[in-house]
Amino acid sequence: MVLFDIDGTLLDTGGAGRQAFIRGLARVMGARDELAYVSFAGNTDRKVLDQVMAARGQRLEEEEIRRIFGEVAKELRVLLRENPARAVAGAGSFLARLAGAGVALGLVTGNIRECAYLKLGSVGFDRFFRFGGFGDEHAERAEIGRAALAAAAAAGIEGAEGGICLVGDTPFDVAAGVALGIPVIGVAAGKYGACELLAAGAGVVVADFSDAGRLLDWMEATLG
Ligand SMILES: [Mg+2]
Repeated sequence: MVLFDIDGTLLDTGGAGRQAFIRGLARVMGARDELAYVSFAGNTDRKVLDQVMAARGQRLEEEEIRRIFGEVAKELRVLLRENPARAVAGAGSFLARLAGAGVALGLVTGNIRECAYLKLGSVGFDRFFRFGGFGDEHAERAEIGRAALAAAAAAGIEGAEGGICLVGDTPFDVAAGVALGIPVIGVAAGKYGACELLAAGAGVVVADFSDAGRLLDWMEATLG
């Protein structure tokens, strides 16, 4: 079983994710906030909201949070229609190769579920993923990872026999894998470089998925 982060790992929305969040938030809260104080890389949508509310000294009811997430997804749909996401090099063929080999593919993403599938759909990757953990349920990435494993178990997907690994582009992804005892492949295609990902505990780091052979060899050797 291989669990994938989305942004900076499989694709790049060119800032559409951040823009959708800014617009969706403004629709519910009134005033527009450019969120200059929020880093989205490796963050989770629920944690972004926590940071926004902490900066304002406000608290949101669960119903308002759901409403904001709904508006963010609406905005993202429009933005991606205008400017589709760009896939990380080799990601599509790597996913196809794993799926073809019978590997179960899941998501561990800070995105809310709807935004996750909008982004994946924008580059045609949505069909590869049937389960995952998402940012609308949990603020902490390790919790999102646990939710993904629970979703896999609920769907009757066994990861143990072939091992499990996680693929992500930030030290936050790596930390989540470490917390769960899952080896991590770092993809230095986003904001963080190989040194930072290795220092966080990544087992291997690649620039993108162009060299699928090297990744498959690493998986074979590490996961058995
Ligand atoms: Mg990411």
